[in-house]
Amino acid sequence: MGETDKDDLISIIEEDDPEATIPMVLPMMPVRDVVIFTDMLLPLFVGREKSVNAIEEAIAKDRYLFVVTQKDPGVENPGPEEIYQLGTVSRILRMLKLPDGRVKALVQGIAKARIVKYVRKRSVFRVRIELIEEPESDDIDIESEALMRNVREYSEKILTLRGEYTSEVGSILTSIDQPGRLADLVASNLRLKIDEAQAVIEIIDPFQRLKKVNDLLFREVELSAMQAKIQSEVKDEISKSQKDYFLREQVRAIHRELGELDERSQEVEEYKGKIKRARMPQAAKAEADKQLRRLEQMHPDSAESSVVRTYLDWMVELPWSKSTTDVIDIKKAKSVLDQDHFGLERIKDRILEFLSVRKLNANTKGPILCFVGPPGVGKTSLGRAIANAMKRKFIRISLGGIRDEAEIRGHRRTYIGALPGRIIQGLKQAGSNNPVFMMDEIDKLGADFRGDPSSALLEALDPEQNAEFSDHYLNLSFDLSKVMFILTANISDTIPSALLDRMEVINLSGYTEDEKKVIAKTHLIPRQIKENGIKVKQIHFSEGAIALVINEYTSEAGLRNLERELGTLCRKVARRIAEGEKGPFLISRQSIEKYLGPPKYYPEMDKEESQVGLSTGLAWTQVGGEVLYVEASLINGKGEMILTGQLGEVMQESARAALSYARANVTQFKVKDAIFENRDIHIHVPAGAIPKDGPSAGIAMATALISALTERPVNKDVAMTGEITLRGRVLPIGGLKEKALGALRAGITTVIIPQKNKKDLVEIPKNVKRKIKFIPVSNMDEVLAIALEPAVPKRGRTPSARKPVAKKPAP
Ligand code: ADP
Repeated sequence: MGETDKDDLISIIEEDDPEATIPMVLPMMPVRDVVIFTDMLLPLFVGREKSVNAIEEAIAKDRYLFVVTQKDPGVENPGPEEIYQLGTVSRILRMLKLPDGRVKALVQGIAKARIVKYVRKRSVFRVRIELIEEPESDDIDIESEALMRNVREYSEKILTLRGEYTSEVGSILTSIDQPGRLADLVASNLRLKIDEAQAVIEIIDPFQRLKKVNDLLFREVELSAMQAKIQSEVKDEISKSQKDYFLREQVRAIHRELGELDERSQEVEEYKGKIKRARMPQAAKAEADKQLRRLEQMHPDSAESSVVRTYLDWMVELPWSKSTTDVIDIKKAKSVLDQDHFGLERIKDRILEFLSVRKLNANTKGPILCFVGPPGVGKTSLGRAIANAMKRKFIRISLGGIRDEAEIRGHRRTYIGALPGRIIQGLKQAGSNNPVFMMDEIDKLGADFRGDPSSALLEALDPEQNAEFSDHYLNLSFDLSKVMFILTANISDTIPSALLDRMEVINLSGYTEDEKKVIAKTHLIPRQIKENGIKVKQIHFSEGAIALVINEYTSEAGLRNLERELGTLCRKVARRIAEGEKGPFLISRQSIEKYLGPPKYYPEMDKEESQVGLSTGLAWTQVGGEVLYVEASLINGKGEMILTGQLGEVMQESARAALSYARANVTQFKVKDAIFENRDIHIHVPAGAIPKDGPSAGIAMATALISALTERPVNKDVAMTGEITLRGRVLPIGGLKEKALGALRAGITTVIIPQKNKKDLVEIPKNVKRKIKFIPVSNMDEVLAIALEPAVPKRGRTPSARKPVAKKPAP
């Protein structure tokens, strides 16, 4: 069934005969979702076979049809029990057969009736009915009249709410004067649910029926009113927040008018001022302004606004155009450098040349200085002195262990807790855009999947590109071209080569005992006296005491531990003074042990007698040069080589090379080849505190091995450094100066060096050369000739390790 346009039906009906009597047996058509009331016109779309048959039967007779509603509209073929009993006798006014067998029909309700009996059920429903008479009267009592008025009013209201009310509808409503007919008309137009409509039709008494309709109308009016209320509330809610916004804006406008600022505008005004004072380059200012505008629009307590605030704080505090004025007075600079640093003449000269060039050409893109040397040799204090001499700010960051590019260049702002990289942080700390910027431990820079920090660093250092250094957090470029970068490293080997290329390396190799004594007297002691609040007259250090601290309480290339021990001595004295003693206090050799405890290193203990299978090599480590002992012995076995100690790969290989050399030359050493068949050769390098690697212990290992084979002791005063080849040639090594200083500290008097390193001897301080004899050699025979002593008659000697009593502190 469906809505149909009444006009396209073919009229098959002649004039109605109003007097025609209704037959008591009629074809019946169940309908699904409508209840047909008396007088109601209803277009139907009929498809079910039984219903089509019913219509055809009606048409064939006198067009009467009993229309009744089925209880459940979902049932396709309802039986009698699924069909209500009370329905409406209707007449077919028009009908049209469709090609697919369905039928369109227009029917009109005529009279209420009830099914008494099903006469036929199979191909068509045919039922016996009983008409239901409704009392009609011309006398309408007051109650009914009032009820009818009520129903009319409600109906108008609802139709108005639904926008369906017209004056025509109004006049139809007033024209009906029978309660039952009014009830039917309104009910059929009220869009009732099926069971409700059926309930209405089943009420026979007209007044009661109208009452029921009135109740339904009342509920409908309430519902419609409620619906309207809800809709208007939603509207109100929206307009309230708009209202609040306007009110707030008005308050701000009023504040402005009065020349007062509310909190938010005050913050914005402050930022505006700060942005102006920061004198940013155009791009940066544009970005800052943009972020400030965003801040203005945000809720002041939101998480996002605090991110924007942090960003703006960084932006306004960076020294975009703040710089200090360089004062380059070379004479003064020299005196500043001299004042803080003893010796280092060549380095000071280089620094003064560097400054001179800067003075003549302020925009010079000179080299980046890189100070390389062990800890405590004065790299940092030189940097600081340069800053002092130029009256620039000084800042220092450490790059040790940095593996992530973001540490240099910052995290993007989308990360929670993002910050600019270390370079931008350093500049903010310096508060000027031209500080002396020292980056420590460039040799300990790492690289991994998070990006290579050295390439970011390169961008910062390279004068060709650092005017546009970009930081991820700022998302802008910052001009680093005025910054004076100085790098430091312990050794130059591990500095990434791309960086090394752009730097001028200045080596600071460490100090000799004599130099340390002078520095202690002229710099370290006066500084420690002052720092501990002692008067110069109250304390005196004897020469012997200073030497003792240098030799037996420290073993280092630099001055850090020395300064610390001297500081400890001053502190102990400070305490005695604070406790009321008068002094003056003399720090003598004897008093040292009382203050500092037993010595930590015994340099003299190495001066035992020469031993078989024990040679002295020289190592170059991050803390400077050091002696390194190599032990070799033959034990029962099958001719295998055992390597122990903390040996790096390169060192293990040079041990193998040394063994191969020894085996190839057994006859020369008057050793039987057979010795290798039932002996294992054990080479051990006591680790000390620092793992060592590199090829330069090659000749020391070969010497220890051949000493063990030939049972000729190695001269205890000889140390050696050099790489060995299978044919016994001695190849050059690095770090000779540091190694020489290490040898001197260990009391060595002769150092065997590769011929090719002879040229490096010019760098060795004179006082070192006075104490140590350097012998250049080009092959192993020469080494053995110098190092090995004649064999001594057997007395059952076994080599023993010579170790410091306590391990050196790790650097
Ligand atoms: P580094 O940076 O190389 O590790 P520092 O610059 O921290 O070493 O130096 C350690 C200490 O030794 C500092 O107190 C420094 O003043 C002092 N020092 C280093 N070299 C000298 C020198 N040549 N003359 C005077 N004091 C020095």
